[in-house]
Amino acid sequence: MSKSESTSAQPVLQSDRAESVFKDFKPPYDEGHAVVEASRCLFCDEPPCQQACPTSIDIPQFIRKIATGNIKGSARTIFDANILGMSCARVCPVEVLCVGDCVYNHMGQPPIQIGKLQRYATDIALAEGWQFFEAGPDTGKSVGLVGAGPASIAAAHQLRRAGHAVTIYDKRDVIGGLNTWGVAPYKMKAEAALEELEWVLRIGGIDIQLGIGVGPGEGDLPFEELEARHDAVFLGFGLGEDSSLEVPGQDLEGVHGAVDFIECMKLGALDLGWVKRAAVVGGGNTAIDAVRELKGLGIPEVVLVYRGQEAGMSGYQHEWKAAKVEGVTASWGSQPLAFLGAGRVQSIHCARLDENKKATGDMFTLGADLVLLAIGQGKLGELLGGIEGIALERGKVVTDADGATGRPGWYAGGDCRNGGKEVVNAVDEGKRAALAIDAYLRNKGG
Ligand SMILES: Cc1cc2nc3c(=O)[nH]c(=O)nc-3n(C[C@H](O)[C@H](O)[C@H](O)COP(=O)(O)OP(=O)(O)OC[C@H]3O[C@@H](n4cnc5c(N)ncnc54)[C@H](O)[C@@H]3O)c2cc1C
Ligand code: SF4
Repeated sequence: MSKSESTSAQPVLQSDRAESVFKDFKPPYDEGHAVVEASRCLFCDEPPCQQACPTSIDIPQFIRKIATGNIKGSARTIFDANILGMSCARVCPVEVLCVGDCVYNHMGQPPIQIGKLQRYATDIALAEGWQFFEAGPDTGKSVGLVGAGPASIAAAHQLRRAGHAVTIYDKRDVIGGLNTWGVAPYKMKAEAALEELEWVLRIGGIDIQLGIGVGPGEGDLPFEELEARHDAVFLGFGLGEDSSLEVPGQDLEGVHGAVDFIECMKLGALDLGWVKRAAVVGGGNTAIDAVRELKGLGIPEVVLVYRGQEAGMSGYQHEWKAAKVEGVTASWGSQPLAFLGAGRVQSIHCARLDENKKATGDMFTLGADLVLLAIGQGKLGELLGGIEGIALERGKVVTDADGATGRPGWYAGGDCRNGGKEVVNAVDEGKRAALAIDAYLRNKGG
């Protein structure tokens, strides 16, 4: 696709994508199960589940509508609060959000399966092609959005509802950000993310320009040009490349960044037949996703290599438990010092750390013919270096609660603002910023 070509059409995904082998970890409800589960809801007056949802979906209301057979109304309630409600139903860590706060948890009863009910209603809405929203009357104003991930998509949809023209620029050739090419395929595959986006884009008038990076780089669209083209700007460019360990052997074949590897698995074919033992370095959610993905791709031995101990992992415990059930092992208190091998990695030379992550003086070597580094992603805030009124804090874009930066008309949301949270946070921040941009543009007049 040429750099200047404008499109809202979906890219065609390869049919032999490695992610295709995965099955849904949480199978969907049929009608009978959905109605029975919905009927268990106590419809609390001040529902803690709703307070735990970053997009504040009216959960009792959408569940009540399922219980009474009003699926269309249920889906409308969900999408009105969260336009990526179908994705979120699959990818939200509900155990620490809505489901985790269900009052049944304190009553010795299983909590309501809110994510599965949300999936039930939103899947039907998409399959039926129900449309709930239309573009508002044209305001004559336009907004330029950087990045086509959940934050910008949510912002763009809300801005169209308000009648503003929107253009999204993304440096990649595929839309949806990490929701398309990052989330684990046993939660959602790229094709489902793209189907939802196609449905979202039916509001019309969201101009998507793919293959266009915005920033100071060669060939990028400069920020001054972006500002000159539009009446307001939304920054939703997410995080940067996988961080590296800066140890010898990092450039050996077979050593990769985990997010980079996951993107390759989600969007393309992979030949991993030669891998007998894989290691993933890290203890966060990306590391846990990566070990489960490698196991699911058929690698016989997969080991998590983490500096700390099991109890100190930053990744969700429920996800790590699932990884262990699937046969993943761990090497705790292990600090890689070098990757060893001739051309291709064969092992990792590690220092043993104690419970306080202090070196014990012991060294050991761990065999691995594939190593993924899941130790965080860089921040892209430096793209904005020197733009008057934009402040950064440890690489994150600083804004007020509504996403406004210190530069008039410039807003930000999602991972580039919050440092890396969940899809549902990006949707919430994108939507909030869009409401603030709408108010700004209406006050500005002209
Ligand atoms: C491996 C992994 C698994 C995850 N799994 C889950 C999960 O299961 N559940 C969950 O809720 N969250 C998950 N997350 C987090 C979630 O995906 C992110 O919080 C969310 O996608 C952030 O949305 P965003 O729009 O801010 O950024 P992104 O989704 O990162 O989108 C940013 C977009 O900006 C584009 N871009 C970057 N720089 C430029 C530039 N200079 N010019 C133009 N475009 C640019 C990028 O190409 C990208 O498309 C996961 C994250 C990772 C890394
Ligand atoms: S969007 Fe996520 S957190 Fe909110 S109700 Fe749905 S599944 Fe729960």
